[in-house]
Amino acid sequence: MIPAAFDYVAPRSLPEAVADLVKHGSEAKVLAGGHSLIPLMKLRLSTPSFLVDIGRIQDLSYIREADSHIALGALTTHHEIEFSELVKARLPLLQQAAAQIGDAQVRNRGTIGGAAAHADPNGDFPTCLLALDAELIAVGPRGERSIKAQDFFVDTFTSALEPAEILREIRIPRPPSASSGTYLKFSRRSQDWAIVAVAAQVSLREGRVERVAIGLTGMGPRPLRAAAAERALTGKAVAPDALREASAQAADGTQPPEDLNGSPEYRRHLAAVLTRRALEAITGSK
Ligand SMILES: Cc1cc2nc3c(=O)[nH]c(=O)nc-3n(C[C@H](O)[C@H](O)[C@H](O)COP(=O)(O)OP(=O)(O)OC[C@H]3O[C@@H](n4cnc5c(N)ncnc54)[C@H](O)[C@@H]3O)c2cc1C
Repeated sequence: MIPAAFDYVAPRSLPEAVADLVKHGSEAKVLAGGHSLIPLMKLRLSTPSFLVDIGRIQDLSYIREADSHIALGALTTHHEIEFSELVKARLPLLQQAAAQIGDAQVRNRGTIGGAAAHADPNGDFPTCLLALDAELIAVGPRGERSIKAQDFFVDTFTSALEPAEILREIRIPRPPSASSGTYLKFSRRSQDWAIVAVAAQVSLREGRVERVAIGLTGMGPRPLRAAAAERALTGKAVAPDALREASAQAADGTQPPEDLNGSPEYRRHLAAVLTRRALEAITGSK
């Protein structure tokens, strides 16, 4: 449980941090909260010889409301998201997910930028960002670019970030007023990782589902959208039968893994049940 030797810098600005990453190439890694990277280094599953600690860069930790979106700095901790009144009011599913990540220590140190960049298909935030149609703003040697969540999570532990890019901000479009969401996570014990979880956001107009987004955790090599269930529900009047029929399709097109926590069949069942419960909770229809 002792990491391989590494050098360490703690730059004070993003341009400095990017320059350090460029200089050290594939040997370098960004360090944020360290709650995914350090365990991997202790197990020697990751052996970077150079760490660029972004924790001392000013103004990377904030939650701000703009006209069209809510912006979260990459260093915003899970704890800050859990206790943000703005997030609770505007993005309840993100607040609920934050409150269910690990224990208080993990939530105090872990950052939303680190959780996104780590791209763990069992992580809670990646699925939320997918369901909320987030945009991820990265800074690199060629400047800044915006990556849609659907393009950001490429594969297991693989994001669309280039080696010398740093995730700076996450932008989540402001949901319309008749819209709400929830995050339901199923695990064996509280504070455990999800076996399966569902992030759902529903917008209603005159009793009908105008837009629905359902993100799935633990149902494939990356966070996925339950596209068939979304299609089945869009435009429908809110009614128990419609919610049940759509939920039954939640696992269509997914590739749930087989592991000690459960079989693919068990995960498909969980995805359908959690989706139904999430839709019922959001719409109040049962
Ligand atoms: C005991 C324990 C329980 C946990 N339980 C859960 C859980 O239930 N659900 C859950 O979702 N997570 C869980 N986690 C993971 C936790 O949420 C991590 O904090 C998070 O996944 C990574 O965030 P971090 O800031 O710690 O990133 P780090 O560990 O510092 O970095 C993770 C990876 O992202 C890269 N990175 C970090 N920030 C940036 C950036 N801004 N730009 C570019 N690359 C970056 C790093 O180079 C590294 O590859 C748990 C962790 C522990 C130790």
